Amino acid sequence: MSKEQLECSFCGRNKAETNLLIAGLDAHICDRCIEQAHGIVMEDTSVEKPGVSKSELELKKPKAIKEFLDEYIIGQEFTKKVMSVAVYNHYKRLLQPATEDDVEIQKSNIMMVGQTGTGKTLIAKTIARMLNVPLAIVDATVLTEAGYVGEDVESILTRLLQAADYNLEKAQTGIVFIDEIDKIARKSDNPSITRDVSGEGVQQGLLKLLEGTVVNVPPKGGRKHPDQKFIEVNTENILFIAGGAFDGIEKVIRKRLNMQAVGFSASMSNDIVAEKDNLLQYIIPKDVKDFGMIPEIIGRLPVLTHMNPLDAGTLRAILTEPKNAIIKQYKKLFAMDDIEFEITEDALEYIVSKAIEYKLGARGLRSLCEAILTDAMFDLPGTEEQTLRVTEDYAAAKLSKSGIQKLKAVG
Ligand code: ADP
Repeated sequence: MSKEQLECSFCGRNKAETNLLIAGLDAHICDRCIEQAHGIVMEDTSVEKPGVSKSELELKKPKAIKEFLDEYIIGQEFTKKVMSVAVYNHYKRLLQPATEDDVEIQKSNIMMVGQTGTGKTLIAKTIARMLNVPLAIVDATVLTEAGYVGEDVESILTRLLQAADYNLEKAQTGIVFIDEIDKIARKSDNPSITRDVSGEGVQQGLLKLLEGTVVNVPPKGGRKHPDQKFIEVNTENILFIAGGAFDGIEKVIRKRLNMQAVGFSASMSNDIVAEKDNLLQYIIPKDVKDFGMIPEIIGRLPVLTHMNPLDAGTLRAILTEPKNAIIKQYKKLFAMDDIEFEITEDALEYIVSKAIEYKLGARGLRSLCEAILTDAMFDLPGTEEQTLRVTEDYAAAKLSKSGIQKLKAVG
């Protein structure tokens, strides 16, 4: 083919009619067709854009983040507000243009302190869902210092890569939720006596990750070995949220508060003790340090927040109010069999009282509902029955038949 005869294999324009004609193996493509094809690729929503798109993030102001959290999480107003700001600032930091003013926004990693079952994981999950970023939930208790039996801290990033389907860019703007962070607290105040395999060493290992560094991560997990291929993961823009129950930290808080109060007035200390039910609201980083976390870790989880214990009113609301509330889920399940599911207020309150009695917390609500509804879910589909009305008596009868009382011992 002579030069004059070259033409675009897509639109047929000859070379003279194009600004640019690019040659492939057996074909040519002109600049216009490239532009058109590019447009098609960009429009196709199935082509995932790596990471979090800027416009998407700019839309989420702290108030909008909090509103989203409100749809799924009952109560915990303080934490929801603090988290909304922290998440907003984190992603603002991610979008910050390179400036010359030397003001570098630091990471706003978060530490959540609160009893188990109060919604810590749920908050992390909800934020990840809202931002559409990958989330890895890891348990700090399985982590050990390199060289010991257990998982290296890098395994956290393997999980995140997996959650991101190995899309490195997505993983690098994802969220890691480290559960049970309190379990790696230093066991004694004297760190030098014995090597504290599961505690301080792991805290040390986490430091760099939290701060932002490039880590060689074995993509399939497992121990590092010389022949393994690694993926380099930069943790600089990964948001770390650590959560823990910190059992017994109330004592530390009370002690500090009472000691502070001595110098001021005795009545203040009385007021504080009277509020013993929720001492967590007074938590400060020093309490976490006194509990056994090393100061460097606390410094790298600068946003400290607490979860309130769930009272009867909150548990009652959790049953029906969140967007995917348990009762709404059962309604949907029954509706799929054309059965209208109804539950009386008395029955709902009965379930809440049992959750409290058995010390099951919010997590127990679901087990209780299952115990009450399993018979109906087994028997009703395929029959003529079109309604199921659960009263307190019905719930009590089903529950006494079930083995759920055995759970009582667990609490
Ligand atoms: P934690 O991480 O604090 O141990 P989770 O977030 O796993 O607790 O909570 C367990 C379950 O309890 C959640 O899946 C959710 O259904 C329910 N739950 C707990 N707290 C709340 C809350 N404040 N609002 C709505 N649901 C909640």
